[in-house]
Amino acid sequence: MPTLNGVDLGLLPTMGVGSYASPAWVFAMRRALRAGEAGPADMEEAIQDAIKIAVWEQEEAGLDVITDGEIRRQRFLWNVVERLSGLTVIPPQRKLGVVSYDSAPRFETVERVSAPEGLGLVQEYTYVRTLTNKPIKVCCPGPLTLALPITPKGGYPSGDYLPLLYDLAALVNRELRQLVAAGATFLQIDEPSAAGRTPHLPVTETVTLFNETVAGVQAKIALHICFGNNQGRPAMKRTYAPLFPHILAAKAELFALEFANREMAEIGLWGQYGGDRELAAGVIDVKSMYVETPEDVAERIRTVLEHVPPHKLYLTCDCGFSATSRGLARAKLNALVAGARLVRRELSGAGA
Ligand SMILES: [Zn+2]
Repeated sequence: MPTLNGVDLGLLPTMGVGSYASPAWVFAMRRALRAGEAGPADMEEAIQDAIKIAVWEQEEAGLDVITDGEIRRQRFLWNVVERLSGLTVIPPQRKLGVVSYDSAPRFETVERVSAPEGLGLVQEYTYVRTLTNKPIKVCCPGPLTLALPITPKGGYPSGDYLPLLYDLAALVNRELRQLVAAGATFLQIDEPSAAGRTPHLPVTETVTLFNETVAGVQAKIALHICFGNNQGRPAMKRTYAPLFPHILAAKAELFALEFANREMAEIGLWGQYGGDRELAAGVIDVKSMYVETPEDVAERIRTVLEHVPPHKLYLTCDCGFSATSRGLARAKLNALVAGARLVRRELSGAGA
């Protein structure tokens, strides 16, 4: 069975990828803060309330591993990037019309990046730890993803991303070590950019960078690679094939991958190469408004089980819920757990 800290998590443990849907009033409070109608203390109160709700709704759904819902972050990344120093903001060149990846500000370096106050994840962990007794996972954008909106200029050789990427890896590594010191035991690195970053980075370099990022971090390490989920849109060619088998040199016990949105395409890659690693298979499509039935989810799990032994399998969603409305996210979490229960019964013989 999958274990965490030697504790048995049971058969087919369920968890979200990381972010949960923020309540509507968090968006209203952010707007009020920008307009000067609310203060930082109002915002903090709202955020803490929203994290309580995120934890409660995950527990109510019956998830086995909980996150804080990344409610403090916007678009799962921005609040982490904003804690970096050495950057100057470049306003988006396109502000009208459909909101997408190119509607967000970009950054240029003015000197080597640093994070004098850390990346903020330790504060996230210490708060959520007070809210639940369930196992907790903490997710951190990896260096490839953190670098996505940043162009290296001052402090770096022009046009060469590698020195910036390794500086970011060092900052993430320090944060991960601090998380472990604070008691975190389950850490996930989110690297959607690993699936197809521009400019292209060879897989072997991606792996070296990842292993630097987690070097010496004494915790269960997961690696989440999806295809992007800004406003529910992917940003890359939706295939893992170019990553395999080299990506398995990454020092991660668990890989959290996106399958449901692609009707379980490429699950055979894991059967072929996965070996001794654990897979958290995405069996909920976070980019679709369609709410899966428990039987839909069970069918996807059965497909996964044709390629992955049950004791190596976690069940999750394709990606986080940062681009999903709260009611939809809640319904999808319920479907995830209900589908998992159907298959657990079958595996235990009770459903036969
Ligand atoms: Zn994702």
